[in-house]
Parts: sequence; structure tokens; C-alpha cells
Amino acid sequence: MRVTQNGNLLQLTWFPHFFPVNCYLVIEDNELTLIDAAMPFSVKGIVAAAAKLQKPITRIILTHAHGDHVGALDELKRQLPAAKVYISERDADLLRGDRTLRADEPQMPLKGSVPKNITTVPDVLLQEGGLIGSLQAISTPGHTPGSMSFMDQRSRALIAGDAYQTFRVTAVAGTIVPLFPFPAMATWHKESALASALKLAELSPAVLAAGHGNMLTEEPVQAMKLAIRQAQNSLNKGGR
Ligand SMILES: [Zn+2]
Repeated sequence: MRVTQNGNLLQLTWFPHFFPVNCYLVIEDNELTLIDAAMPFSVKGIVAAAAKLQKPITRIILTHAHGDHVGALDELKRQLPAAKVYISERDADLLRGDRTLRADEPQMPLKGSVPKNITTVPDVLLQEGGLIGSLQAISTPGHTPGSMSFMDQRSRALIAGDAYQTFRVTAVAGTIVPLFPFPAMATWHKESALASALKLAELSPAVLAAGHGNMLTEEPVQAMKLAIRQAQNSLNKGGR
């Protein structure tokens, strides 16, 4: 596991060179917030990284309910029973293994690995604008119907889940990056993903921290705008 720190944000990465999977620890005054729960084998590394910081993980926030973001959830919750689990109201369905679309949603089939055997029940269902410590919840549907991103109000670091990827190139969810197409292949609805990507760029984050790829700390908005233009072009060409 690779650890990269940027201020109050720690990125933990597995397989950084060929299939990077990230989760994040957000350092608060007396505690830690974990964003995403990576893969089942990630438990040890997450617990060790928190121990090094000498603060307890009191919250586990999920950007969305795909398998590579919730893999360690049940075991973490077993080891950290006091930690509260947060996910959007919408993706809480996916976390239970329910792939049913709602009547008011684009009727495109959900993609990606929706877990079938997670037993953890979320403690808090997130809404747009909700505050979790220093983090503000931002609704960013597209990759999944209930995907959420989180802006650290102190540093303007944006933890975007899979709304963007930064591995190989920075891309909006749904844009196929030939050398790393997996997040795109797991994206539910490209038009919504593009709208969410625009919403995030307009917030002018200082850091872009995605689910797959390194943190962007130099002019992330420029990379996001370029990614948005590429996503727009591909949608205009009828790419789905
Ligand atoms: Zn992912």
C-alpha cells in the first residue's frame, strides 16, 4: 500500500501502477474520517495508517457502493464498531445489493460491481450539502445514481470518488481512457456524470482526489475543464 499526504488528506493506494484503487483518511482535530473502503484485503493497511496518525477512525463515508469502494467495509465496521457509516440515501440501495432503478431516473442499467453480501447498515443517509466534520457532501450522480463527492472546507480538497479518474489522464466518469477503461465501463449514465463533473469544476477545488489515480495538486480545475470538453465531444458524437 502506498501512502501520499497532502495537508489533512492521506491517500492510501493499492496497485498504484496498473490498477490503482484509492481510499482516503481525512485528519480532523481529534479523529479521522475514512472516505471509501477499498478492497477486502485493504483492512490491515487502513487500520495501520490510522494507528500511525494516533487518532481513531470515527466515520466511514462511502462515495458510492461499487465493490472497489466498499470491499473492506464489513470487516472495518467489525473492528471499529463505534465508527458511523455514511452513504447517500440513493446508493444505500446499491449497498444492500438492490440494482432497481427508480421511476424518476434515466432507465439505463446500473453498471459495475454492486456488492451482494455487505451486511453493514449505514448509520447516516447523506443529503446534498450535509456536513461531516470538515467535509461538505455534494451530490454527483452519474457513475452511480447516488454518487457523492466531498469538499474539505479547510483546504478545498475535493474527494470525488469516481466522478473523475486521474489515472493515465484526467477524465470524467464515462469517458473511456484506453489504458484504464474500467471506471468508464462501470459508469451508469454519462449525461448525469458530465453535469456532475461541471458542478465540481465550478466549485474550484484546490486538490482533486479521485478513486483511481494520483491526487492532482497543481491546477486541477484546468485538467477538469479539459476532461469536461472531451466528455462533451464524445457525447456529441453520440458516444454512449
Ligand atoms: Zn471505483
